[in-house]
Amino acid sequence: MDLEDFKVKFHELYEKPAQVCVRCPGRVNLIGEHIDYHGYDVLPMAIEACCIILSAPSESNQIRISNLDDKNYPSTTISLPSGWKGATPPKWFDYLLSGWRGILDLLKSEDQDQKGMDLLVTGSVPESSGLSSSSSLVCAAALTAYFHQTGKSFGELTKFYPTPVRRSKSRSTLCLLFLLAFQIQKITENAVFVVMHCGERMNKAATSCFNQRVTEGKICGQILLKHANVKSDAVRLKDVSAALGKNPEECKQLVDTVVPEEISKEDLLKIIDEQALDKCLSHNTKDMPSFTLKRRGLHVYGEASRVDQFHRACEAGDLNLMGKLLDEGHQSLSKLYEASTEVMDEMVEFCKDQGALGARLTGAGWGGCAVILFEKGKIPKSILEDKRFLFISSPASGISLQKI
Ligand code: ADP
Repeated sequence: MDLEDFKVKFHELYEKPAQVCVRCPGRVNLIGEHIDYHGYDVLPMAIEACCIILSAPSESNQIRISNLDDKNYPSTTISLPSGWKGATPPKWFDYLLSGWRGILDLLKSEDQDQKGMDLLVTGSVPESSGLSSSSSLVCAAALTAYFHQTGKSFGELTKFYPTPVRRSKSRSTLCLLFLLAFQIQKITENAVFVVMHCGERMNKAATSCFNQRVTEGKICGQILLKHANVKSDAVRLKDVSAALGKNPEECKQLVDTVVPEEISKEDLLKIIDEQALDKCLSHNTKDMPSFTLKRRGLHVYGEASRVDQFHRACEAGDLNLMGKLLDEGHQSLSKLYEASTEVMDEMVEFCKDQGALGARLTGAGWGGCAVILFEKGKIPKSILEDKRFLFISSPASGISLQKI
């Protein structure tokens, strides 16, 4: 919808004009999947699809939240002061409240400091598809809340990321800071990325696949430490690699030689002790009877090293190498991390058959989107006219706040 029409809607709904407009892009991760939570950098790019929040302060002790698409996203009202700390599973407005709460915590606000506000939301980021629709809501809400709490636009928020950074630690937390930061600066002139949706979506809140992978990766790390007889608090695989004094490639080789393919919990406890295992488990993985290990570790260390190589290939303008790394990334996600689906694999294959230099699923997986590399001007009609085609992406701008 046109921004002017959106403002008119706000006025009709709340009988006053909006004062602030915050826009936050979605993002597509070019490479680096399932490694952020192990401490490694990934390579995301802001896209034009975004969420927009119009807002105005409110004298009532309430936060009123509405969505332009009120059929799918019904309105809600929160009375202040509110002790909201989270909700499982989250409803759409809980993402906004999560951003709001993050700001209150950051500002160390007391309950009586909570300011009333009226919000109207709209979004164009396809949801549950690996393009960060929910994070864009969290971040836009956080910046909106920051403005209404302090009267400042970005204020001290910028000190966390004083300059736009090319690489960011994406997705690991529902925090606003990475989205403030991520603005990929430039991609090789000749490269264009297409984003396609395979038609399947994963409901992350309703499955433990994601948490299982996190746990299995961490267990790999504990086995590596034990094997090297290194005492360390490290849990994330990047920290394990630092404790071992090895780079990701060396760690990958070590995983290949010392980590078992699959193992029961009972046998695992013959290798590492209970305390080490506890560090790896979460509430929905604590009852797993067995673990797939080697493939998970191989993926994480392999992908970490691909991000570095991709970054260098990008700078050197080596499109063929960029494509090859994307393909390897996909194979790794599909075969080692088992985070793809048949439908996704088939779409990736199709893109390769149509002349893509490289293609991989992007986001957590189990459905959602793929990012596909083409040489500029060489995207065939068969891709552009395919019903799964979403958009051609070029780097968009990061989060912004505009006073109206
Ligand atoms: P993603 O990978 O896109 O962030 P998630 O499953 O984490 O996927 O989050 C999707 C959820 O975000 C939706 O179920 C909905 O609650 C919320 N959401 C996304 N886009 C919108 C929108 N335009 N308006 C309201 N809520 C939205």
